[in-house]
Amino acid sequence: MDEQRPQTEGGVRDLYALLKRRGYLWPSFEIYGGVAGFYDLGPLGSLLRENVEALWRSKFVLEEGFQLVDCPNITPEIVFFHSGHLDKFSDVMVSCLECSRPFRADHLLEGGPGTDPALIARLFRDRGIVCPDCGGALSEPEEFNLMFSTRIGPGSDKRGYLRPETAQNIFINFSNLYRHARSRLPFGAAQIGRGFRNEISPRQGLVRLREFHMAEGEFFFDPLVEGFAPFSRYRDTMVNLVPASSPDATLRMDLGTAVEDGTITSEVLAHFMGATASFATSLGIAQERTRFRQHLPSEMAHYARDCWDLEISTSYGWVEMVGIADRSAYDLTQHSKGSGTDLSAFRRFDEPKVIEGTRLVPDMKVLGPIFRGRAREAGEIISSMDPSSAGSAIGEGIRIEIDGQHYDVPDNAYRIESFRDVVHQERFVPNVIEPSFGMDRLMFAILEHSYFEDPNRAEEGESGKVEPYRILRLDPGIAPVKCGVFPLLNREDLSRIARDLDADLRRQGLQTNYDASDSIGRRYARMDEIGTPFCATVDHDSLKDGCATIRERDTQMQKRIPLKDIPAIVKRMVGGEKTFSDM
Ligand code: AMP
Repeated sequence: MDEQRPQTEGGVRDLYALLKRRGYLWPSFEIYGGVAGFYDLGPLGSLLRENVEALWRSKFVLEEGFQLVDCPNITPEIVFFHSGHLDKFSDVMVSCLECSRPFRADHLLEGGPGTDPALIARLFRDRGIVCPDCGGALSEPEEFNLMFSTRIGPGSDKRGYLRPETAQNIFINFSNLYRHARSRLPFGAAQIGRGFRNEISPRQGLVRLREFHMAEGEFFFDPLVEGFAPFSRYRDTMVNLVPASSPDATLRMDLGTAVEDGTITSEVLAHFMGATASFATSLGIAQERTRFRQHLPSEMAHYARDCWDLEISTSYGWVEMVGIADRSAYDLTQHSKGSGTDLSAFRRFDEPKVIEGTRLVPDMKVLGPIFRGRAREAGEIISSMDPSSAGSAIGEGIRIEIDGQHYDVPDNAYRIESFRDVVHQERFVPNVIEPSFGMDRLMFAILEHSYFEDPNRAEEGESGKVEPYRILRLDPGIAPVKCGVFPLLNREDLSRIARDLDADLRRQGLQTNYDASDSIGRRYARMDEIGTPFCATVDHDSLKDGCATIRERDTQMQKRIPLKDIPAIVKRMVGGEKTFSDM
């Protein structure tokens, strides 16, 4: 094929120009000069995102059974205090002392320098790094928290933040979700919605935004349960892996082997890497342009114990599209402590366990006169104490602490009792694996990978200049428009048939684009440019034979098909059940 991909900066510029011209994307607030890091989705971008989201829902909500929730974007400060974001969700920033331009410090350094400003300052000094734009000296590195803050309610001092990830809503709803899952592990919960990060210097279009669309799943499980049966679906999936232990090598292997040889630490983690790889394939992303890269310890987010990113190769290099993090029991433990709410689950034993031992039993009759209103509290503290802390010698008693005050409890206020309990379950804080998808980045990868220029079909464009012929070879399943519908001439009899066909296609749930202006070649070109996989043209013969000409974008092949069959046929081709050559 005499076609090229836009793997150059110029190519990306051309792609963005196309997306803007054709109604995929518009820079937000443009008539007021725009603001970096914000994009509007136009009519086609909105449809594309809906299609990508629908595939995500069918993978994670239908196939994996994740429970979908939808929660507020604004979150009170206490949530991010306990989740650790207030303290740690920051990037290190420097700015140029000459031209004032801010930079993310790690973007000016090679090799994952970590997040310690003092260490970064030393690296900057040692390597003599200056402003890449004007050569000016740089400021001292400082931490910059990425959360946008706001106030909740008028005149109140209740601070809130726009969520930087959707995950926290799920963690703080754990008890509701667990109940909904009929108190059984494992289960997953998911949320699709906005994430907000006040990026220091967003410069890469859809790749680095200040407000973006995320789809996140949180899978809660018991780490003591060995193996994960659903992993059989992905055991044989071949993937490209870049483990932290050998960051310069790409290993190609199946996920089953990667778990067996310890490259990936658990079947649950590997399962969600497999589900992610399968989802990327369903978007039309070629396997060879994907890899899973494990985070170096210096890159790990504060909540993560391990993390593998799905990276996709783009003209910006390898870009993280999905983070698959092992968040251990971190978030639930933090929110349990922070809220005083029990966020644990039951671990049911296969065989009941017999637990034998001794415990302290308080005597409330003795405690009452000593502690009065706080006697119940004192009793609870005593019951929770280890009997070995009680004095063995007669008259020794024990010491307890209530609100920082110490009290001596005489030994007649409790007794030591032996017990033998048969228990069927115990409580524990579940572990979490989180696959977190950035929808805007994925859309960029999809669009860039499907963008081709055909120099052999170059012609004078609407601008009057000779333009390369541009095609978006989007997978029919996610293409925003499925079928262009054209009357060959703008004549009443042809238009009537074409309008009816258009309405029939839409009734089948197929998005169409009715177009009656310009030459048929121009109309095909417009559909190729927005990635429409099929076009149907009604001509004079249609009046006699009741057929229209269907043209396929990628082969430019044409076939006559009866009008009444077209909606069902297009639907099957869009659904991947039939190809054009089968027709
Ligand atoms: P993280 O929680 O940092 O792993 O982010 C989860 C996913 O969100 C990433 O894999 C990206 O796809 C996406 N993402 C993160 N930051 C941005 C951003 N500034 N702009 C667009 N997408 C982002």
